Amino acid sequence: MLAVVAASYNGKAPDNALRFDDLLAAGLPEGSLSNVRFALLGAGNTQWVATYQAFPKRIEEGLLAAGATPIVERGIADAAGDFDGMASRWMNTLWATLAEEYAADTSEASGPRYQVQLLTESDVRPAIVSKQAYPLTVVANEELVADATGLWDFSIEPPRPSAKSITFELPDGVTYDTGNHLAVFAKNELALVERALRRLGVDYDQVLRLDMPAGGRKHLPVGTPVTAGILLTEFLELQDVATRSQIQTLAEHTQCPWTRPQLQSYTADTEEAEERYSKEILGKRISVLGLLERFPTVELPLAVFLEMMGPIRPRFYSISSAPSANPRRVRLTVGLLEGPALSGDGQYRGTCSSYIAALEPGDVVYGYVRVPSPTFAPPPR
Ligand SMILES: Cc1cc2nc3c(=O)[nH]c(=O)nc-3n(C[C@H](O)[C@H](O)[C@H](O)COP(=O)(O)OP(=O)(O)OC[C@H]3O[C@@H](n4cnc5c(N)ncnc54)[C@H](O)[C@@H]3O)c2cc1C
Repeated sequence: MLAVVAASYNGKAPDNALRFDDLLAAGLPEGSLSNVRFALLGAGNTQWVATYQAFPKRIEEGLLAAGATPIVERGIADAAGDFDGMASRWMNTLWATLAEEYAADTSEASGPRYQVQLLTESDVRPAIVSKQAYPLTVVANEELVADATGLWDFSIEPPRPSAKSITFELPDGVTYDTGNHLAVFAKNELALVERALRRLGVDYDQVLRLDMPAGGRKHLPVGTPVTAGILLTEFLELQDVATRSQIQTLAEHTQCPWTRPQLQSYTADTEEAEERYSKEILGKRISVLGLLERFPTVELPLAVFLEMMGPIRPRFYSISSAPSANPRRVRLTVGLLEGPALSGDGQYRGTCSSYIAALEPGDVVYGYVRVPSPTFAPPPR
């Protein structure tokens, strides 16, 4: 079966049908298409009276002359009139004719063509947000120590790091006891993610799909289209100290005769290397990203970066509220970890405490109540 939809311009064939038009002009051998059935819709504009539907008419003549059989009458759609209506009517007739002929069930065809499946965050973050996690809705997030008034005189007393008293609403059926912990799954800050992506040369909005042909343990979403931004924001621990094996991988991805030995001087199996690593990497908490920025000749493909970085870990917080006050709400007291980075590069902001500090009422985070072992509980009254 052949379906042809064609326009004509001043009676000529469209560019992508010029060769077809030549064939028609040369004449298709009689009977050569006797086993072909065709459906033809011509688009045109009646304002060009002399050449209206000229090419579709030529196609019809040529196909008929070669023995082809029309399934439905040639359709015409006029751009100066109800183009859409004319085209739709022709298409409906064609589908109905085919459906009848093939006894096809068309009951499904009237529904929407797309199916929308709404996913929760825990569907998309399968291995990161553990199965025991559930959504926690922020009810309030109050500053406990920093200057909310703007009137603090810092010449008398230096600013104190922020601490938040944050309250979450628990989902139905979840209970807790005072002294339990709340595990919180954080997301990396935008500025940090953008810094990493800039160094990797990948756009935040770059959509990609990870495949793992060899299988294995995974903490990243495999087989699902995802943006590079989401991957780095939600899945990877970006601020951990670079391990020796990570530094070794970086060394393997530079051709620079100066950089490679520099990096290897932290990982070699010598006392000197051990001391260097301990003092310059561990002591200053230099991350993989810090090293990538320090050694610009390292060219790390995104796939290698994704593989070498560990999964983002939940942080635990002691619940500082009592269920006797409100069994559905947990309150945490969270100090913001912030200060000049030990690496000497700008400010360091703790991943989860800065995430919590920025939360607002209505925001939803993922976490779960954990009963510590051994249990810690206030003495019974
Ligand atoms: C059982 C338990 C209960 C807890 N309860 C509470 C609680 O009630 N309230 C609370 O606030 N916290 C609590 N914590 C700590 C909390 O879990 C987090 O560790 C804390 O919030 C910091 O996490 P973060 O993600 O913000 O920091 P991360 O991103 O994890 O950073 C922490 C790391 O950064 C390093 N670091 C510190 N300063 C710098 C710097 N200037 N430059 C470079 N690196 C630096 C630290 O050495 C540390 O290794 C608890 C921890 C546990 C285990």
